[in-house]
Amino acid sequence: DWMSPDGTELRPPADLRPEIPHPARMYDYYLGGKDNFPADREAAERVIALGPMVRLGARANRDFLQRAVRHLAELGVTQFLDIGTGIPTAGNTHEIAQQVHPDAKVAYVDNDPIVLVHSRALLAGSHGTTTVVQADLRDPAAVLAAPEVRELIDFGQPVALLLFAILHFIDESDDPYGIVRQLVDDLPSGSYLALSHGTSDFASPAEHEKGTAVYRTATAQLTPRSREQVLRFFDGLELLEPGLVTAPLWRPDQEARSTDATTGLWAGVARKP
Ligand code: SAH
Repeated sequence: DWMSPDGTELRPPADLRPEIPHPARMYDYYLGGKDNFPADREAAERVIALGPMVRLGARANRDFLQRAVRHLAELGVTQFLDIGTGIPTAGNTHEIAQQVHPDAKVAYVDNDPIVLVHSRALLAGSHGTTTVVQADLRDPAAVLAAPEVRELIDFGQPVALLLFAILHFIDESDDPYGIVRQLVDDLPSGSYLALSHGTSDFASPAEHEKGTAVYRTATAQLTPRSREQVLRFFDGLELLEPGLVTAPLWRPDQEARSTDATTGLWAGVARKP
């Protein structure tokens, strides 16, 4: 345990707080990863019990991320600001982007120390094309001002802002729309916003209640949003085809593992005019 001999509480290494479910580690468990603790697995199992859409949704989200990053790279984007990185898994943003542009730059941002530990290990040796920053999306000014971000990303050139499966951890009191606007305002014309967002549009009220209740015991609460609410994040931007759709339906390719239209995530990519 984390008590010193005189009985005062000590912080566990790197502030991992293994006894509290962390969304990054629950998500890692949905994807079949090993970087999670018993408290994360117990919480994740209670969400998984709600139905197959949980694990399918996590995979569909990952597949969407990869298709969106590839598409953006093919449109000529060489700089990515990926906020809510998650624990590294197969096909991370820089790996996909660098298949198209070998020197594509990716700044990863997350507030969870375990993500930082794993990401730094994975990304060491990426030859100055990636950086990993510990910062909180709820403080967008700090994200934009982070020296590692400013060193890597040229904000005079188009940037793809990636917010995959993170905005549903920002509740109304933290002004998610204002946060996104502040970030997008800092990007030049020709930049992009790509995001996915959990929804209860296809869940019963009981499923919605049970799912959000599990996250009330975690370090971040879950705020699923309706399609209309998610659409508002794109105000002032031009949505690319096919618009805001459920994750499996966004430009599916032959590798698409699921085409279930009701996977509980809205997904879209838009251009800043
Ligand atoms: N973007 C990845 C991982 C999604 S899991 C993907 O779509 O596959 C959500 C991630 O967001 C977790 O790693 C979690 O730690 C991070 N996160 C949640 N709230 C955050 C906040 N306020 N600031 C920064 N990161 C946050």
